[in-house]
Amino acid sequence: MEFATFADRAAAIEAEPADLEIVAHVSDLLDEAGDSEDGAGDAEPRTVEIVARFVQGRVFPAWDSTTLDIGPNACYEALARAAGTNVRSDDVEERLAEVGEIGDVAASYDFGGQQGLGAFTGGDAGADDNDLTVREVYETLVDLAAAEGSGSQDRKVDLLFGLFNRCSSEEARYLARLVLSEMRIGVGEGTVRDAIGEAFDVPGERVERALQVSNDYGQVARVAREEGLEGLDAMELEVGRPVQAMLAQAGTVTDALEEWDEAAVEWKYDGARIQLHHEFDAAGESETRVFSRNMEDVTDALPEVVEYAEETLEEPTILDGEVVAIDDDGNPLPFQEVLKRFRRKHDVAKAREDVTVRPVFFDCLHADGEDLLEEPLTIRHERLREVLIDSDTTTDIEPAEMDVDDERDVEGLSLLWLTDDPDEIEAIDADALESGHEGIMLKDPASTYSPGRRGKHWRKRKPDVETLDCVVTGAEWGEGRRATFLGTFELSVRDGDDSAERSPAGSAVEPQNLETVGKVATGITDEKLAELTELLEPHIASEEGQEVDLEPEIVFEVGYEEIQTSPTYSSGYALRFPRFLGVRSDKDPGDADSLERIERLR
Ligand code: AMP
Repeated sequence: MEFATFADRAAAIEAEPADLEIVAHVSDLLDEAGDSEDGAGDAEPRTVEIVARFVQGRVFPAWDSTTLDIGPNACYEALARAAGTNVRSDDVEERLAEVGEIGDVAASYDFGGQQGLGAFTGGDAGADDNDLTVREVYETLVDLAAAEGSGSQDRKVDLLFGLFNRCSSEEARYLARLVLSEMRIGVGEGTVRDAIGEAFDVPGERVERALQVSNDYGQVARVAREEGLEGLDAMELEVGRPVQAMLAQAGTVTDALEEWDEAAVEWKYDGARIQLHHEFDAAGESETRVFSRNMEDVTDALPEVVEYAEETLEEPTILDGEVVAIDDDGNPLPFQEVLKRFRRKHDVAKAREDVTVRPVFFDCLHADGEDLLEEPLTIRHERLREVLIDSDTTTDIEPAEMDVDDERDVEGLSLLWLTDDPDEIEAIDADALESGHEGIMLKDPASTYSPGRRGKHWRKRKPDVETLDCVVTGAEWGEGRRATFLGTFELSVRDGDDSAERSPAGSAVEPQNLETVGKVATGITDEKLAELTELLEPHIASEEGQEVDLEPEIVFEVGYEEIQTSPTYSSGYALRFPRFLGVRSDKDPGDADSLERIERLR
């Protein structure tokens, strides 16, 4: 398939306001991508796979943490070089400041593709030598991602220049957006799911299941096309490939007990979410990989977790849990301590001397060749207990006879109580807080595991007033002593329904889907302001006087006294006395709190 065809479709999709029509366009595009390769041998990956990802602005599957690792400046430079001898990277930046969007900027230049002056040749059979194909774009981006070490940035710019040089304006528009992960043509995960269903005549909910286990829209599109429903239903979790984490909503004990016969109550550990994959090769050697909530590979940063898995696990497993920092007596330390370890790439051994971590697992997605996503929580938890407990102990204690103290002795296993008694839940909550944990989670014991869903089956109950995780969308330069610091941060929440699917992990939230709820200026020391300035400055989208607009990238946790209705902010609400509690560097804007939550908290 020519990249021009993809760009044409993307333009049509972008111009289309109606969701159903967008699905129809994406469905046609997938269909065409599939047909374009019939008879083209065993090309890997198939064009339909590539297109299913490109249309969402992705080059690699969601489970794959490979990134292009190319910054905006390198992209501007490649664009400038392809745009002609008189254009410099600064000109591209200037135009961007005027126009506001990289796709429009790219499309405003003439490239080799227009003039038939492509510097490179090649292409799929049937296409003109000079026609850029979707596959060529993909393969070049794979090479670009793989470039490492000294001189790699130049190599990346060269490769990208080669692509832009063969683009028409419209192709350049979507190439630039793809490279900078700013596709934004209105195609979300749900759209691609429905389009796969429509294009290959398979039911949406079966596509959804296949997406949940594979975490790859490309693979699902290909299997739906080539193997139909049977192929989709046969797709399973793969140990080593992370899936999206199941998420929780805020909730009360009263609601939980009203909706479920009884609640599964667990401590809420104040750490960072991990998904552990443990497998064995043919020689029986085990391998452990640990992923963050956003599916980044954090294995090397957490040797204690790997050691725990090596010592404990005797079968291939996928476990869901939390990694917490502990003091010398094994008591939990605040979340900020975990962050000192979490994404650490250098000096891990030294960092380990300062802060020790340990894993606590609360779910089991796969054990010994069996996927457990569709089993109820109680069964999954029992299976979890079996895989974490050594076999001698399992034979001694029957699950039915087990009480909390037995479970407490299993290192790395989260405690779980089943109860319909609110007083008992209060007691568990008090116990959790006293032991230094964050509070409790309430879970529906009958619920299945739904990757990526922020459903009602898991609810978090936090002590005190609920805090909010807000996206920082603006700031102001300070005055006098603080003139070089950003301060007075504008806070926004997602304008979305909590039960709706979340945006793809790691992806941005569209600024138009955010509503302001207030500004926070208190609770921040000068030292912290300097740190925050360094963190936020690269995300400045525009500036006017002291006022700064920020791209929605960073999430703050804020406390407040109450929420009032207010015409001052676009959400219609204002936080009263907001105070800064910390940066949620483990959260993307897509994980921030929603307007719906604000309404519920009032
Ligand atoms: P929050 O980060 O405030 O949205 O709360 C949800 C997070 O709590 C999950 O993503 C987990 O990282 C964490 N968590 C801690 N303990 C548990 C537990 N027992 N079950 C589920 N999630 C937990």
